[in-house]
Amino acid sequence: MHDSKELFQKARAVIPGGVNSPVRACQSVGMDPLFIAKGKGSHIFSEEGNRYIDYVLSWGPMLLGHAHPEVTDAVHRAVDNGSSFGAPCVQEIELAEAIVDAFPGMDMVRMVNSGTEATMSALRVARAHTGRNKILKFEGNYHGHVDALLASAGSGVATLSIPGTPGVPEHTVQDTIIVPYNDLEAARAVFEQQGDEIAAIILEPVAGNMGLVPPQSGFLQGLRELADSYGSVLIFDEVITGFRMDYGGAQTLFGVTPDLTCLGKIIGGGFPVGAYGGKKELMERIAPCGSVYQAGTLAGNPVAMAAGVATLRLLAKSNYTALAEQTRKLAEQMQQVLTDKGVPVSLNVLGSAFTLFFSSEAVTDFASAQKQDQDLFRAYYAQMLEQGIYIAPSGFECTFVSFAHEKADFEQTLEAVQAVKF
Ligand SMILES: *Cc1c(COP(=O)(O)O)cnc(C)c1O
Repeated sequence: MHDSKELFQKARAVIPGGVNSPVRACQSVGMDPLFIAKGKGSHIFSEEGNRYIDYVLSWGPMLLGHAHPEVTDAVHRAVDNGSSFGAPCVQEIELAEAIVDAFPGMDMVRMVNSGTEATMSALRVARAHTGRNKILKFEGNYHGHVDALLASAGSGVATLSIPGTPGVPEHTVQDTIIVPYNDLEAARAVFEQQGDEIAAIILEPVAGNMGLVPPQSGFLQGLRELADSYGSVLIFDEVITGFRMDYGGAQTLFGVTPDLTCLGKIIGGGFPVGAYGGKKELMERIAPCGSVYQAGTLAGNPVAMAAGVATLRLLAKSNYTALAEQTRKLAEQMQQVLTDKGVPVSLNVLGSAFTLFFSSEAVTDFASAQKQDQDLFRAYYAQMLEQGIYIAPSGFECTFVSFAHEKADFEQTLEAVQAVKF
């Protein structure tokens, strides 16, 4: 069968909502999802055989594009030798070394299977280290579906307008304090009141789950200072930004070093991998060095590690500055085309990610992100897709560009924007 609509029907009978992650269902744009059969470089192909220029990139991981030959070869070589042993393997040292070398804030790193596991475990370490329970997070920042972090999360929670999440007991979020993103004064006020009870500040150093929202000047530095003066742990959730904003992540780009860093997405080269790491004194609290328990049957398996190692090896040689320039150029041209049509668009762009918010206001936090016009977005989304441009089905997501995108892709994308009618 090669019909996405029929496949979606079949899927819905056995998988809740027909999907294994909610936003994929495309509910908020009122459409059925496409089933993707394959990808190559900057392109993906639906089961129907239609080709799309992919700006979702599996929600961030595929920074090299799809099926990069060197990554694919590394995976083939690894899988031929067996896919998991639950024992140490050489590939996990290689990936850990590459990560530790790239990230100023990481002396040691532990591999897990998803970004969710990374943030969940980092919080545990921070709480054990400080002997405190409270955590400070920011409105519209998404850190995976960790109970304590689902309060006021962006991404799918924002897209589906789910106010909180049933099934998360009140007591698991009662230690979660939320302040607006980019609001250093609000964070400072919280610390003045209860700073000596706060185990950790966790944030996306560049927010990517309410659309792209860069940190304002002094925000990251100010949080670093707050954490230092109150003895709290600063956690950067770089699951999106790690190896994307720069090879060494947002912490390299902005020159602010956290105590713990969470990674995911890109480091798995398209396989389920997460990681968390940081200062040695924090990481050595984890079992078997210390008493903080955290484990994983498939963590560090040779196939996923090989994909990660091959990916980082290629990224280390890639020109991030050129990709950032290319991305800015595309985003600004798209914004211009839309503005010329009389559509209000506010653009946030950094590195190889951007979001065109259908709003006349600058977007600096979750409240301003929510002011975007959803009807305009839906019209834009549907017509772009129809013309072969695959973007995330939500105004609260990033448009991602990969090293595989080429001039012809950008030209076709601009022509598509030109043709959109509002
Ligand atoms: C995607 C994401 C996560 C969750 O990662 P999963 O692998 O989906 O569990 C956590 N934090 C951020 C910033 C993310 O973008």
